[in-house]
Amino acid sequence: MSNQKVYYGKDIEVMFNSEVCIHSGICVKGLPGVFDLSKRPWVNPDADTMEAIARHIDTCPSGALTYRLLNGEYSTKKEG
Ligand code: SF4
Repeated sequence: MSNQKVYYGKDIEVMFNSEVCIHSGICVKGLPGVFDLSKRPWVNPDADTMEAIARHIDTCPSGALTYRLLNGEYSTKKEG
C-alpha cells in the first residue's frame, strides 16, 4: 500500500507521498499559500498558478511531491 495522497486543483494535481518526505520544509517555506501544514487539506493546488506550483515542486529534494498538469503539457520531471 502506498501512502500517496492526491490533491486535486482545477489546473494541476499534486501528489504527496508521506513515506518519502524528508521534512526539509522547502515546500511550506517557498509557497506557504499552497503548502500550509496548519490547514486541512494542507495542499491547496488552486492557491497559485500551476506554473509556480510545478516549478516549486521540482525543488522538493526527496521526490515526495509530484504533480500532473491537467492541460497535458507535462508532469514531474526528474533531474540528474
Ligand atoms: S519539500 Fe518535499 S521533502 Fe521537503 S517537506 Fe516538502 S514534501 Fe517533504
